[in-house]
Amino acid sequence: MDKLKENKKILYIGIVVLILIVVGIVGIKFYKDYQYKQTYEYKLVEHGYTLEEAKKLLDFYQKPEQLENLLSMEKNSYILELVQEKYYIHSNLSRYLEYASNNKEASTKDVIAIVNVNADYKYYEHDIPTDTSLGILINVNKYYTLPEDFEPLEISDISIRYSYEGNRISSEANDAYVSMWNAAQKSGLTLIVNSSYRDFKEQEDVYNSKKASLGQKEADKIAARPGHSEHQTGLSIDVFEMSNQSTATFKDSEAYTWLKDNAYLYGFIERYPEGKEYLTGYSAEAWHWRYVGEEVAKIIHQENITFDEYYAYYIENQA
Ligand SMILES: [Zn+2]
Repeated sequence: MDKLKENKKILYIGIVVLILIVVGIVGIKFYKDYQYKQTYEYKLVEHGYTLEEAKKLLDFYQKPEQLENLLSMEKNSYILELVQEKYYIHSNLSRYLEYASNNKEASTKDVIAIVNVNADYKYYEHDIPTDTSLGILINVNKYYTLPEDFEPLEISDISIRYSYEGNRISSEANDAYVSMWNAAQKSGLTLIVNSSYRDFKEQEDVYNSKKASLGQKEADKIAARPGHSEHQTGLSIDVFEMSNQSTATFKDSEAYTWLKDNAYLYGFIERYPEGKEYLTGYSAEAWHWRYVGEEVAKIIHQENITFDEYYAYYIENQA
């Protein structure tokens, strides 16, 4: 009898232990499910992304606010293509998506570049006062504007040995130009500057005279509106070679090839290259060179990007 009682007791204990184990396992599973549901992987999958897509997005996005931002937008697998691009800037995401949906023929690389440089906006309809504290890296174009009273970095005359009379640029750029001139001279080329710093008033006169003779539409194609000209920075030169000073043929000259290969070593970049008109907003100008300093010129040269793209990604985006 006692033995039977003992066995029953063991059985009850056994049952209780078993129940506890089952409850424990189920509880852990529920808890784990609960925990998983708090993860962004789960939330992204619930939002419509495949598990694989969710994992890729998580590889790229590390910050919770970026993931929340993603969840607040409609599911769009094109985002996965965008984030693979080197110059992707998260704060531009909704503009990338909008531009891409309106321009189906544009490559992903171009969607990124166009939006980064603001070319998804119309020229002169999206003015941004430019950051004038950036010194040699100041950006001026059809979106970024200089104030009328902008004072360039210390300006000095370019010696008539290297330039037509009356040309002035910032001293640092001037020194760099002289070094470049000497190097070109050693290659048998005599560079000559025919245009450089222009203040607001001078640019206004240039633009207004074009506008008076050609009308605004044509004037806008060949001259910058005052406040929008890079020449007002004191960091740009229009440079030719003694034997070729024609805007029509300079691009075919030996001097132009030399500048393309060497100017970056002296801190100058080609500002309006051929094939990049849709990013710079300007027809190609083989003669217009901009001083940005050696370090930045090297990056722009190596990565084959425009200054506008450099500015968006390396300056604004990192600020
Ligand atoms: Zn120019």
